Amino acid sequence: NDLATLPILIAGNDEQKRTYLGQLVKKLTFCAFAITEPGAGSDVAAMSTAYRREGDEFILNGTKHFISNGSRADWYVTFATSDKRLKHKGISCFVFPSSVPGITRNRMHGKLGQRAADTGEIFYEDVRIPASALVGREGEGFKYAMATFDHSRPEIGAIAIGIAQRALDECLKYSKQRSAFGQPIANFQAIQFMMADMAIEIEAMRLLTYKAAWLVDRGQHANTISAYAKAFSADATMRITTDAVQIFGGYGYMKDYPVEKLMRDAKLLQIYEGTSQIQRVVIARNLLKE
Ligand SMILES: Cc1cc2nc3c(=O)[nH]c(=O)nc-3n(C[C@H](O)[C@H](O)[C@H](O)COP(=O)(O)OP(=O)(O)OC[C@H]3O[C@@H](n4cnc5c(N)ncnc54)[C@H](O)[C@@H]3O)c2cc1C
Repeated sequence: NDLATLPILIAGNDEQKRTYLGQLVKKLTFCAFAITEPGAGSDVAAMSTAYRREGDEFILNGTKHFISNGSRADWYVTFATSDKRLKHKGISCFVFPSSVPGITRNRMHGKLGQRAADTGEIFYEDVRIPASALVGREGEGFKYAMATFDHSRPEIGAIAIGIAQRALDECLKYSKQRSAFGQPIANFQAIQFMMADMAIEIEAMRLLTYKAAWLVDRGQHANTISAYAKAFSADATMRITTDAVQIFGGYGYMKDYPVEKLMRDAKLLQIYEGTSQIQRVVIARNLLKE
């Protein structure tokens, strides 16, 4: 939900905040942030979902996919372009209820991890929304989306810390219980070093993530540090959970213990809200600009 609330907090007007954020505090409500399309993921500016203005209304056509809460959200924050040739300058941001005529949606099945979360595709066919659905200013949607990610990437760092800490906790417990060659596997330096590396990385993840969150809270520029927090935490959690499966041996590969799930859940952190490669694109762009 949080991802969908951010563009409204960043650029929405009081009426939009009252209507949409108000719903979230009144009752159990789902919302979704829909930017990704079948043909445009990392390259957001290549999106095809189009809008045009007719009198006091906007008309939307296009498809979004891989959208968290996509098949069940009560309202959507959606990005669309007035003219694909304008690239990022043509993109605007809209908020509207999912009950608007012309919207169909499906749950997407077959995910590797994070299976308790809904992932959906949304089809917009001549969806008519009032002019008041525009969030912020026309043509500034790309800017709001990027500002959203500056805020949300530390949250991915926080999810990563939770997954990684659980993996280490499970390893500490199991390595003392499991014996090989007449002694607990925790006595083997090879096992100890994997757990020591996990602890080092988790502490570094915490510090980066807290710093990024602190800068965001202070309203300071957090583009680079948010990307550090997300890239480092996602990549470290992938390493940590893979090593956790290793420490559990064959049992780790089976569903009897939670570490295989942690490993599957970790993978997505390197993909959504900008892949680990895209975080490095952001970081390198900022480094070269200085
Ligand atoms: C479970 C799930 C939930 C999601 N939730 C949401 C959501 O709520 N809302 C939403 O809008 N989207 C969501 N997404 C979409 C997600 O953000 C995209 O999948 C992601 O941004 C990558 O886009 P893509 O899948 O099109 O991959 P592509 O952009 O096709 O990338 C393919 C590969 O190329 C690499 N690559 C691309 N460009 C570059 C470059 N310039 N330099 C180096 N490498 C590059 C990528 O890193 C990746 O390894 C979700 C995805 C999943 C799987």
